[in-house]
Amino acid sequence: MPPSDHLLTIDSIDEYAATLHRGVDHLARHLSGLERPFSGVTPAESAAKVGPVDLDGPTLDLEGVLAELSEVYLDDAVWFHDPRYAAHLNCPVAVPALLAEVFVSAVNSSLDTWDQSAGGTLIERRLVDWTAGRIGFDAEADGIFTSGGTQSNLQALLLARGQACLAESDPTAPLAATLARLRIFATAESHFSVQKAASVMGLGAEAVVLVPTDHLHRMDPFALADALASAAAHDLLPMAVVATAGTTDLGAIDPIDRIADVCAAQAGVPGPGRQDEYGVPGPGRQDGQSTWLHVDAAYGGGLLASTRRRHLLAGIERADSVTIDFHKTWFQPVSSSAIIVRDAETMRHVTWHADYLNPKAAQLPNQVDKSMQTTRRFDALKLWTTLRMTGADAIGDMFDTTIDLARELFWVLTDDEWAADFEVAMQPTLSTVVFRFRPVEIDPADASALNTRIRRELFAGGEGIVASTTFHGETWLKLTLLNPTATVGGLCDLLDLVRTTGHRLLDTTEVTR
Ligand SMILES: *Cc1c(COP(=O)(O)O)cnc(C)c1O
Repeated sequence: MPPSDHLLTIDSIDEYAATLHRGVDHLARHLSGLERPFSGVTPAESAAKVGPVDLDGPTLDLEGVLAELSEVYLDDAVWFHDPRYAAHLNCPVAVPALLAEVFVSAVNSSLDTWDQSAGGTLIERRLVDWTAGRIGFDAEADGIFTSGGTQSNLQALLLARGQACLAESDPTAPLAATLARLRIFATAESHFSVQKAASVMGLGAEAVVLVPTDHLHRMDPFALADALASAAAHDLLPMAVVATAGTTDLGAIDPIDRIADVCAAQAGVPGPGRQDEYGVPGPGRQDGQSTWLHVDAAYGGGLLASTRRRHLLAGIERADSVTIDFHKTWFQPVSSSAIIVRDAETMRHVTWHADYLNPKAAQLPNQVDKSMQTTRRFDALKLWTTLRMTGADAIGDMFDTTIDLARELFWVLTDDEWAADFEVAMQPTLSTVVFRFRPVEIDPADASALNTRIRRELFAGGEGIVASTTFHGETWLKLTLLNPTATVGGLCDLLDLVRTTGHRLLDTTEVTR
């Protein structure tokens, strides 16, 4: 048998299955033996393992490959399954999704056209409709799975741009002149992918107007109304307002319902809300449409499955587009995200017809008309399998559990025993806790450098991993809790590690007391 046959089918179907089973055993054994979230490997140590591998041969047998995979990858990977990993928005993966992942790759469907993904197309559509239903959209809604929140946000803003250009009163104006007048309204706490999208779309990052926030770091609707009015006064075109449902650092949820009121007021027609409050109606758009409201629920989207906190997303049903990252708070493996839109018609802004793929007269259902990608993974199957095996409530409960943990840790940190060493930024809304090591005797000017060092030491040790971020211009630490198997006791041990590391650094370095 030529080697290529061996590669594609393995020698027999038994060997195909045996190879996968052996790999799964190897993986499971590794997982059960995990002692810490990270080995602490340095880039130089890792390079010493990866660098010498001779990619031109000789080749290895299965046992050899598995041993090498452990050496170059598994042994030093950062494991989100360990509850002492609490840094970024990474989740341990739901096992049904992992099972589906093998199917996704084994069949290798491509979700662009029906002739490459029969069945899969409809499974993805059912999940888009299901998610739209959870948001509160009606049968007019549509959407598409994407590679992540960054891509979902880009596509949402691209659709908003298309709609804004359509609404421009002077259809004879050159496109470039219209684009230069477009503005996106977000906050300083919005995800950087909003600026990046503006830049990719040729609008320039300065097209994003940063609306002030309130004391809880949420967009201030009054300030939004002012910003929109000021834009209109300068002959600028509001293209979209981006409300964040769960900011990446603080988990703050912008007041979606009130922001929707302000967007509706831009149409110059009274909506169902309380827009008089905001000193509008605004100038009104030529087409009588309200300003496009995009809700970035990449993080908070898991609340759509919550049985206890769904109300935190109140108003999301008034959005024009919503970003959901299933690979964050729905416990799905990377990548799995979706953009869901209220009005299916708006998806036409990313449609392009190619003779070989999706000619205009195509009769079969295809997804490529709605996607910015062509060849595209069947990521939807992972969520499908998870829902079919555990149901949505179980997913929502897992997210809720992590939110409960964050609240308890907040109270722990403000308790006398810990408060002598720690300061907490804000009571958490979702599952992040922003805090810093700051015994009273430390000069505030030294706190940033100290916390930066603590984070670095923890990462190098691999016993527990936290993130850092900037809060009021200084470096703070952040716990992002997405592991529902974590316990308050275990997380207190992690805090204790932060504390002992902090005191050790204070004792052994020049940091002033
Ligand atoms: C993570 C995140 C994104 C980006 O999502 P990716 O899946 O990492 O591309 C966008 N917005 C918010 C609020 C996020 O937390």
